[in-house]
Amino acid sequence: CGIVGYIGKREAYPVVLEGLKRLEYRGYDSAGIAIYDGNDIKLCKTKGKVSDLELKAKNDIITSGNLAIGHTRWATHGVPNDVNSHPHYSNSGNLVIIHNGIIENYESIKQELIKRGYIFHSDTDTEVLVNLIEDVQRNQNLKLGKAVQIALNQVVGAYAIAVFDKNKPNEIVVAKLGSPLAIGVGEDEFFIASDASPFLEYTKKAIYLEDEELAVIRLGKDIKIRKIISDELTDTYIQELQI
Ligand code: GLU
Repeated sequence: CGIVGYIGKREAYPVVLEGLKRLEYRGYDSAGIAIYDGNDIKLCKTKGKVSDLELKAKNDIITSGNLAIGHTRWATHGVPNDVNSHPHYSNSGNLVIIHNGIIENYESIKQELIKRGYIFHSDTDTEVLVNLIEDVQRNQNLKLGKAVQIALNQVVGAYAIAVFDKNKPNEIVVAKLGSPLAIGVGEDEFFIASDASPFLEYTKKAIYLEDEELAVIRLGKDIKIRKIISDELTDTYIQELQI
């Protein structure tokens, strides 16, 4: 399983697709990608290989856009099929998420969200998390980073996640506990991935998130890293990678 993301000036689709290929060694049963095309978020996902995704994407999606996230799934909750594959939208369609790991208390959160009118299309724990984030964001009128932080404080489990909001397409929020997550820092562009291999050809500067850290990555601005359990900002250690 793996996650990849890109925000910057390049066409995001080829960067993310090639990145997913580099992470194939981690093992997976499905693959998917979400692209912001300047107006909306387009999804393409499938059970099977990254090469299957590539074929499907040829007919399915507009591959042009400068923000994308991609995922290879190792199913834990819900069988491997197209619907359970990531990325997952929130109910409004504003948010989209990719997730490696497990949300252990997803069932009780899901029941709570169903009572509040949320509808679920997949059997995954991940779709519960993205709707929890949306619920927090909406009820408290919060920025995405803060909503993700509050939602993660209600969650028991392990995760590396990346989420963005189509109304804020200059920003990706990532967080980690248990599963790995690296951020590649380029010139006016950022990469995210489970390890540095998807972005080594573009930049040698990387930040490895620590457990329980959340990062708000803002294009043209900065990366703000904070602890999930408090608002304490943490130091960003940019490493120079050797090739
Ligand atoms: N628990 C999630 C699912 O089953 C993510 C699995 C993974 O790590 O790929 O969809």
